[in-house]
Amino acid sequence: MLPVSALSALLAASLSFDLVNAHGHDDHAQLHKRLAAAAAAPSSPAAGTGTTAAAGAAGTGSYTVPPLASITSGMPAGPTPTLATTFTPGAVPSLSGAPPLPSAFVFNAADWPALDVIPPTDSAEVQEWMKELDGVDIPNITPTVDGSCANDAQAAAQAQQRGWWTCGGYTSGNDIVACPDKLTWGVSFDDGPAPYSKLKLLNYLGDHKLSATFFVVGSRVVSFPQILIAEYMAGHEISVHTWSHHPLTAMTNEQIVAELGWTRKAIQAVLGVTPTTMRAPFGDIDNRVRAISNAMGLRPIIWTTGPGGPFDTNDWRVAGGLHTGVEQLGIFESLLGNATLIDTGFIVLEHDLFEITVDLAVGYTLDAAQSHNPAFKLESIGRCMNFAPNDLYKETATTDIVNSNSSSSSNSSSTSTSSGSKSSSGTKSTGASGSKASGNTTGAASDNGAAGLRLPSTAFAGVVAAAVAAVFAGFL
Ligand SMILES: [Zn+2]
Repeated sequence: MLPVSALSALLAASLSFDLVNAHGHDDHAQLHKRLAAAAAAPSSPAAGTGTTAAAGAAGTGSYTVPPLASITSGMPAGPTPTLATTFTPGAVPSLSGAPPLPSAFVFNAADWPALDVIPPTDSAEVQEWMKELDGVDIPNITPTVDGSCANDAQAAAQAQQRGWWTCGGYTSGNDIVACPDKLTWGVSFDDGPAPYSKLKLLNYLGDHKLSATFFVVGSRVVSFPQILIAEYMAGHEISVHTWSHHPLTAMTNEQIVAELGWTRKAIQAVLGVTPTTMRAPFGDIDNRVRAISNAMGLRPIIWTTGPGGPFDTNDWRVAGGLHTGVEQLGIFESLLGNATLIDTGFIVLEHDLFEITVDLAVGYTLDAAQSHNPAFKLESIGRCMNFAPNDLYKETATTDIVNSNSSSSSNSSSTSTSSGSKSSSGTKSTGASGSKASGNTTGAASDNGAAGLRLPSTAFAGVVAAAVAAVFAGFL
């Protein structure tokens, strides 16, 4: 396998490649080929093998962060993550009523769909999960072309009726879009679990006694089960972020069920519990996706739109070579300023798949938020929503947060607060229109809020994830 340093360089280079070719879809095949070749390269001794691993799950502080000026695409990789098993089967989570950890997860490819591609819909599992939609009014909305506003003028013209967040920032139903209490940041990290989630991020969060919500990709969960366990056992919240990380509005009902169902199943197999919340990749959600998610017991969570546009750390832009770390921190500090202007708290998009984005988080953005004046309170989304921790998982829930009338505490008025089986029309978020890229950013290749988030782009995200999985296969 490749050493981690090589992986980081590979991913950084790949991100840059994709950004350059963001509108050149033909290049994705070439990219895929290149990544596959790199991932299959002969292994060499891992760099930095002398690095001492963190002894515990979190809070040991044994991580380093480069100076901000040096955090940029193509930067040298840090110490090799050590992915030692920390928790053993039978260990009891602190979560009230939670079952002990199941027997050690062993990945058997035959038991799962191919990693990072939309799962087939003719499997017995998907057919069984489809029954969860029985009796639910799923809006008859045709799938979008590719989840982007720019490539589907017809769907874009219907964005409000569709309740399509990607194209206009429409929210609806029981979407969670902000923490209720002003100056509270609902902290979340997307697209893991990944090696740096554990090496640096969990240590930082533990040291600072912070909780976060991890929106995890099923293909990563089965690749890095011990990292997911470490997140969960440290008291962080786990939520569904689909199996393959492709835009959900572009999928059939059956494919959406497959994406959510396999991810639910993967998390349950590793942790013994099933999340009751989800986040759509790229924020690409509409009333059909909402209804299916709710029918499957998963309440949608998105990030806040406020003055300046969607609240995005833009960390992915640094990993992709669009911004330097210095520029990103400036953008983030503007975001914090905007966050003081709204009447609610807020939720921000941030990632833990790449070392660069983790470095930015643990070295800079989380510190900036904690030292901000006025002060922000940082906590996981379930906590900021005042949900009981046990209600975030099906097996331990005593209150149904999906179908209950519990506050959606949005910064936009909701048209429905009950089950997503309602096909209410979309509600436009307040603040700057989601149809524009954040005013704070130099939105390369970005013609709407979520289009920016499409970098790493739809096909590409899967390719990168596949590379991660291929390179790290055998670590755990
Ligand atoms: Zn994502």
